[in-house]
Amino acid sequence: MNETDLNYKVVWDRCLTYIKDNLKSPQAFKTWFEPIKPMKLENSTLTIQVPSTFFYEWLEEHFITLLRSTIKHELGPDGRLEYSIVMDTTNPYEISSTGGHRAETKNAPIAIPVQPKNIPTPFLIPGLQKAKIPSRLNENYSFDNFVEGDCNRLARAAGFAITENPGKSAFNPLFIYGDTGLGKTHLLNAIGLQIKAKYPDLTVLYVSAEYFTQQFVDACRNGNSNNFTNFYQLIDVLLIDDVHKLAGREGTQNAFFSIFNHLHQSQKQIVLTSDKAPANMTGMEARLLSRFKWGLAADIHMPDVETRIAILQKKIHANGVDIPDDVIEYIAYSINTNVRELEGVLNSLLAQSILNKKTIDIDLAKQMIDQIVQNSKKDISIDFIKKVVCEYFGIPVSEINVSSRKREIVQARQLAMYFAKQHTKNSLAIIGMQCGNKDHATVLYACKAVNNLMDTNKTFRTTVEELSKRLKA
Ligand code: ADP
Ligand code: MG
Repeated sequence: MNETDLNYKVVWDRCLTYIKDNLKSPQAFKTWFEPIKPMKLENSTLTIQVPSTFFYEWLEEHFITLLRSTIKHELGPDGRLEYSIVMDTTNPYEISSTGGHRAETKNAPIAIPVQPKNIPTPFLIPGLQKAKIPSRLNENYSFDNFVEGDCNRLARAAGFAITENPGKSAFNPLFIYGDTGLGKTHLLNAIGLQIKAKYPDLTVLYVSAEYFTQQFVDACRNGNSNNFTNFYQLIDVLLIDDVHKLAGREGTQNAFFSIFNHLHQSQKQIVLTSDKAPANMTGMEARLLSRFKWGLAADIHMPDVETRIAILQKKIHANGVDIPDDVIEYIAYSINTNVRELEGVLNSLLAQSILNKKTIDIDLAKQMIDQIVQNSKKDISIDFIKKVVCEYFGIPVSEINVSSRKREIVQARQLAMYFAKQHTKNSLAIIGMQCGNKDHATVLYACKAVNNLMDTNKTFRTTVEELSKRLKA
């Protein structure tokens, strides 16, 4: 059954409910409304089939007011009703307000004009039209300015392949993974933009896992998590960035699970990015992880020097500036962490040359590299985290190091564990040891508790956000 099929049947069912509610006699309902068959719904015009001309005339004479208000109720003020009369089974005789058969009838069919957006269907959130869903894509991240190298060849090729025939290739879902700053978000957007260019009618949506979570939490708070799921099930191409951020969020994972299943079954395309391969992800439900492996998992690495040079050249060219080759090479050789840092150095170099009129040479490049690389390498230690958290709550650090069970101490300790897990590369065992001599399970529990509380308690979420800011300051 396709969507239009369902729409007119659903709309007619609702009309029947409305009619039943407003009709005094159940017998009249049985005689005059049950035999009606809905035929189609187009441009806010609902066509119903009635068994005979007599039947039609009777409806128009006795139930015109009820029908009019029913259509207005279900389709809005512009809604129209048209009849199709069965003369014999092979030749239905159409009567419509715009058709040429009106003279045949005593009463003109009801014609109440309406707005299409008022058509309630199980697939649409009231007031939202599928065609109007913004894709949230970043126009700057295209295939054209994504430099191909050994580091990203498979991911790029698979991404490009699905743009040919979204949802129908073997790469569903396409799961792109790799360290930060290596082009996952760029590639994800490029896939979306390319599909939109090739298939303007498809509904493409880019969303970060963080935003997805936020929307889900808000929907639950407002009691409309069903709308949330229905909305996502409308999408033809769903692009979810940084899916590892769903870790530990059971509720959001469940919602995502049903959305994933629905879209996958309907052959809709799903593309996900993550900082790790599905096999190495933690805090994710097994059933989700197994689905992440259904299609293709493709990794992205740090580009080799030649690709780094090509990336720099492309960006320099796009900026319409000239930078000597030896400087480009110097930067490409010096930065071996990720493309974001490579870009960062280039951008500050450009700023220095344009704003401060400095000559771009290796010396200037070296200065910029020292500044940027040092800044981003600033390590956050567990001690620093404990200090920031304790200062915030006004408690001495020694308190979270001992096994106190006082509520505010427990919470501060859990937050320290949570941030240590987020910002340091220490194992859970080490984090536990340094935060009150606890074991790794306590740390895991703490991370989960913090995530859950953030979902349900706004004040707590604000606290976490404020602490995050202080940690990065
Ligand atoms: P990630 O999502 O993996 O953390 P991004 O997609 O945000 O990384 O990439 C970081 C920056 O590096 C972006 O500005 C992006 O345009 C650029 N970048 C990464 N890979 C490439 C590439 N292969 N070609 C051109 N630019 C790239
Ligand atoms: Mg990203």
